[in-house]
Amino acid sequence: MELYDLSITEAQARLDRREISAVELTRAHLDRIAAVEPLVRAFVTVTPELALAQAEAADRRLGQGERRPLLGIPMALKDVISTRGVRTTCSSRMLEHFVPIYDATVVTRLQAEGAVLLGKTNMDEFAMGSSCENSAFFPTHNPWDLERVPGGSSGGSAAAVAAGEAVYSLGSDTGGSIRQPAALCGVVGLKPTYGRVSRSGLVAFASSLDQIGPITRTVEDAALVLEAIAGHDPNDSTTADLPVPRYREALTGDLRGLRIGVPREYFAAGVDPGVATTLRQAIQTLADLGATIDWEVSLPHTEYALAVYYLIAPSEASANLARYDGVKYGFLAEGTSMWDEMERTRGRGFGPEVKRRIMLGTYALSAGYYDAYYLKAQKVRTLIKRDFDEAFTRYDVLVTPTSPTVAFRLGERVADPIQMYLSDVCTLPVNIAGICGLAVPAGLSKGLPVGMQLLGKPFDEATLLRVGHAFEQATPWHRLRPPLGQAGAPAQHVPHESETG
Ligand code: GLN
Repeated sequence: MELYDLSITEAQARLDRREISAVELTRAHLDRIAAVEPLVRAFVTVTPELALAQAEAADRRLGQGERRPLLGIPMALKDVISTRGVRTTCSSRMLEHFVPIYDATVVTRLQAEGAVLLGKTNMDEFAMGSSCENSAFFPTHNPWDLERVPGGSSGGSAAAVAAGEAVYSLGSDTGGSIRQPAALCGVVGLKPTYGRVSRSGLVAFASSLDQIGPITRTVEDAALVLEAIAGHDPNDSTTADLPVPRYREALTGDLRGLRIGVPREYFAAGVDPGVATTLRQAIQTLADLGATIDWEVSLPHTEYALAVYYLIAPSEASANLARYDGVKYGFLAEGTSMWDEMERTRGRGFGPEVKRRIMLGTYALSAGYYDAYYLKAQKVRTLIKRDFDEAFTRYDVLVTPTSPTVAFRLGERVADPIQMYLSDVCTLPVNIAGICGLAVPAGLSKGLPVGMQLLGKPFDEATLLRVGHAFEQATPWHRLRPPLGQAGAPAQHVPHESETG
């Protein structure tokens, strides 16, 4: 088994036994990046010197007997998360040369745990998109099929983990951007409850929806990373002042007594037959593990979620992106007057999708249209939230597909924004309601990964992780690795540590 195939817990066990050093583990990942980046292109910036310096520091801490789950483990961060001294671009011309002067809270927390930063990953510009094709720099390729998209907007973060270029990564999720790429790349992605993880230092897209979360190879790894980054932060007043559970303790492997609901609206038209069949089998596995399944749940306002999202998210984006005026930071196109300069800066600094969102949002917020669009959307948002509140009085967890289709071909949806937006029909209601969602690999359809989405009550990530973990123990999907670069080659099965001895 290659070092770049290890999960956090497997790598940690080897570090603890001093079989490998953090520097060796980091070098293995830097070598892997050098080998596969020409094909995958998951990274905007690779930080080898920083990674090796952090790995050496981690080795010193390990040598002194310190033991922490993430100590010395190499990871990658979506390029929307501020890193002091390391370029943070949001895959936009606007921030192409922007070097932040402070770290996001999640970065400070990971550093305290001894994490090793390999680099910053590619994304759709300002996190707007579902395929990574809106990156101003280059698209990322899906390691399972290089002709296909990795999903988005955290496509680089998901592809990096799937390709063995990082043990784990962080993404951000406003309407599905952690879960959808995780599903399309065959890895685990967790969108925490709104307020669970600090957004301080996350470049804002839609502030009432944005949340940072982990992308990992196993559910146990997601539990470890969430525990490290979650919790109240005085720099983000929307973080909840609640204790952070020891998530790993929730992973009992047992689902007896658990009530699981299957909302029928998520299996409606538009869902690939292969995805639906895979999901039904996965849900049967949950039943075999002891959960009670209700196959006939209804969340009646689901059909409005896409429209609500595409009013609220662009409205908030139009306000948040007003700051890119060429005055304070970022790209500046010189002009003849202040207005001319601002127009040129925003005209050249933003790509077409970002401009589309700003226009949509500004329109929805304009005097005369505000009540009909933005305000109406907020009211329907409440109805969508109530559907979930009601369902969670009867069920502990809801199960849906993560994405209605498997990874689509590069270029296939770029000319049709609605088709692209539909990639997130299953994920965006979760952000609208502010609840938590976990994507886990559930099988293959046409040789490509299918994700199962588990939805939980606010701040009940522990139950999602418990279900995801039990499913993982009973299935082989998280151990499949993409046949990277070998056209037509079958997926490879990576044995568990215990199987290799
Ligand atoms: N694909 C959705 C959008 O384009 C969600 C993006 C996200 O979660 N950041 O807005």
